[in-house]
Amino acid sequence: MRVSCRGMLVPALLIWIVVSGVSRASDPASSELAPNAQAPNVVIIYCDDLGYGDLGCYGHPTIKTPNLDRMAAEGLKFTSFYSAAPVCTPSRAALMTGRLPIRNGMCSSRRRVLFPDSAGGLPDSEITIAELLKQNGYATGCVGKWHLGHHPQFLPTAQGFDAYFGIPYSNDMDRLNDIGPRGRQAFLEPDTRYWNVPLMSNEEIIERPADQNTITRRYTEASIEFIQAHRDKPFFLYLAHSMPHVPLFASERFRNTSERGLYGDVIEEIDWSVGQILQTLRDEGIEEQTLVFFSSDNGPWLVFDLHGGSAGLLRGGKGSTWEGGMRVPGIAWWPGHIEAGRVTSDMACTMDLFVTLSSMVGQPLPDDRAYDGFDLTDLLMGTGPSTRDVMYYYRDDRLLAVRKGPWKMHLETQAGYGQAEPTVHDPPALYHLGYDASEKNDVSAANPEVVTELRSMLEQHAGTVEPVESQLERR
Ligand code: MG
Repeated sequence: MRVSCRGMLVPALLIWIVVSGVSRASDPASSELAPNAQAPNVVIIYCDDLGYGDLGCYGHPTIKTPNLDRMAAEGLKFTSFYSAAPVCTPSRAALMTGRLPIRNGMCSSRRRVLFPDSAGGLPDSEITIAELLKQNGYATGCVGKWHLGHHPQFLPTAQGFDAYFGIPYSNDMDRLNDIGPRGRQAFLEPDTRYWNVPLMSNEEIIERPADQNTITRRYTEASIEFIQAHRDKPFFLYLAHSMPHVPLFASERFRNTSERGLYGDVIEEIDWSVGQILQTLRDEGIEEQTLVFFSSDNGPWLVFDLHGGSAGLLRGGKGSTWEGGMRVPGIAWWPGHIEAGRVTSDMACTMDLFVTLSSMVGQPLPDDRAYDGFDLTDLLMGTGPSTRDVMYYYRDDRLLAVRKGPWKMHLETQAGYGQAEPTVHDPPALYHLGYDASEKNDVSAANPEVVTELRSMLEQHAGTVEPVESQLERR
């Protein structure tokens, strides 16, 4: 049944907030465990397919992002921040768990992400950031795109979140074939009725198709209500925007306003949203108790031309293990704790957030599984460099490249989309990312000892990975 968006908006938000409050009150973990007094509230704002070059503070010449620019100026901006994977589902699994998707089956070369006909999802045995923080007395809310399984046992409410409000998978799924132009043209002239995606409140579908024109605004409103409702207790808010993944939609207020066209409208609305979240924290007087982290799940979807973003000077985009596929904007903000205006080229990755937050709440990492994250506390607080000096690049379930320090070595490369076969590099291709961020000049011949070292690192790492069932291939 289709329901009108306007009529459902307020009830949907009310249901979401009420359920969130009830869950907290009835959750014994919230009252029994005293949270670490030093540990901040945590807000993670995660975009979908936002490229390294799409923000003003990352060099975009026509997309205006004053709120993100200010966030960066008041916080710490990363120039070597990585998503753990070049596509949505594996990337989100890694963010949530601090572990490479290859370790829990959240990747596949056959089906790169979860789809509406998928039966799998993030295994219950995995520990999410939400579970970690909930155990330490936090209220936990998830707003936006989930994409770690849409069946009840995989939804945010089954993975440590008290409450959920959002579209459970990508906004280009559930395409209705009997409406609108065929194929790619629908994306270039998007109408929210073409994609029958559900909008959910906890485990209930409350609107279908979700009115995506207002989705960024409504995610923002739900996030603000969550912050206000939990201002007196520790909270974790995970706000995962559905945008700027195609099809692109922006609220009326933002449509036709950016020099960059519709893509710019969408980014500028996300920027507005960031401004609203940070202003809410200031208005509630909790900005010095709240760590906010902004990033993206992968690089820009370049095959969508003007409807896709930009990786700036980085090579490649979404889907590939070139830098543009996985290096993304990363901004950390925590007034009074993170020094304003710092920029770091030290390496860091979304998987580090789980490990860093474990450290901040004073809970040791479980010793029954491998973690791929590093503790960024020193880097954030300005007391030391990043503890991460290595990055492994997986395309789905295949390990294709490694970076150590400035050196990046590729065994194989492949465009994110459209290139049927990978290019095998034998000997491997080697780039110095300090000199050559665009990966244009292969310097393997001049640096055989580096190639040898990186090869052995790859082999060593591969030896730590045990095969598991792919969740993405389950139907
Ligand atoms: Mg994505």
